Amino acid sequence: MAPFAAVTFANASGSHAAARAARRAVEEARELVASLLGAAPSEVVFTSGGTESDNLAVLGTLAERARHGTPLAIACSSIQHAAVLEPARAASRGLAQVHGIGALRVDEVAVSTAGVIDLDALEDALGDDTALVSVMHANNEVGTLQPLAEVARRVRARAPRAALHTDAVQAAKYIDLATTTAGFDLVSISAHKLGGPKGAGALVVRAPSLLAPLQHGGGQEHERRSGTHDVAGIVGLATALAVAAKTAGDERVRVAELRDRLADGLLAAVPGTVESAPRDEVLPSHCHLRFAGVDQEELLVLLDRGGVYASAGSSCASGALEPSHVLLAMGVAPAEARTAVRFSLGYTTVPGEIDLAVRVVADAVGALRG
Ligand code: PLP
Repeated sequence: MAPFAAVTFANASGSHAAARAARRAVEEARELVASLLGAAPSEVVFTSGGTESDNLAVLGTLAERARHGTPLAIACSSIQHAAVLEPARAASRGLAQVHGIGALRVDEVAVSTAGVIDLDALEDALGDDTALVSVMHANNEVGTLQPLAEVARRVRARAPRAALHTDAVQAAKYIDLATTTAGFDLVSISAHKLGGPKGAGALVVRAPSLLAPLQHGGGQEHERRSGTHDVAGIVGLATALAVAAKTAGDERVRVAELRDRLADGLLAAVPGTVESAPRDEVLPSHCHLRFAGVDQEELLVLLDRGGVYASAGSSCASGALEPSHVLLAMGVAPAEARTAVRFSLGYTTVPGEIDLAVRVVADAVGALRG
């Protein structure tokens, strides 16, 4: 990234030699991202991250449909990230009229107690009027993997005109998306979930006619996303994805072992600890636990003081903690949802930190209960 942040600083849309060098870097990054995601380079749209990719997938699809008649319904899982749920809900309230989208129905499809989408309920929600189906690859809070192949099969059979989107922001680091998302029209990724920079992402758009642009301006990204390219961010995204592809096999095993050590350590050390989802159904990076009778906000304060940086659900959200919509959708009572803490592991996590974390968490829970 460094040369493109500091030395080859030119605008990739320009025509002089420095601009051409920046544009070459963008196009090389596009080819790399495309090959790793199993897409053609022309199908990769660079964005400012997962939120923008999700908004573009949801509202861009609806806006395109609106040109040919009113889109009537969206179906998505009830545990989607807010970057999918909120644009869908906003559109349903008629707030996306600036993009030509009239009011529509949003079916938020139920999940199991493990946080896996109910495929029969999804099928029931589908109809001729379904314009878009969005099911995330792995949930960001609990880490549960979703049955994408079966989702695609059922959607294609029941609602062949619906565009199919998956938010693969969390899964991209550990899973070969070229295989798992091949049946999806739209795929969102974000660099900072891969060890890359914040503020860079991409949306795979498999059919050129699928989207209407939400941003209008210089016509970059083949008119799908206007705005000067963040060349360094794009190079960082591609590099992070390439590193993830190379290391995923080893990292999946290494990080899962650390996660198991953390979860088993806490289950043994802290009575009344419950894991939110079965470990073989979640990403290796996720350890999501509930500590009976403990307020998550108070616990997080003590953990922070002890040098353990955890979160209570979606780390993207800030401000007052509402009980997690993911846990509520999984059937967890609101009071119990307020006892949940999410620990995230990754490239930098080492065994000593796990043992320290077990001690700090056990002491903090003990202090709060005491
Ligand atoms: N989707 C999921 C599943 C996420 O976990 C996140 C962020 O945590 C986003 C979307 C938003 O991505 P970004 O932070 O790049 O805007």
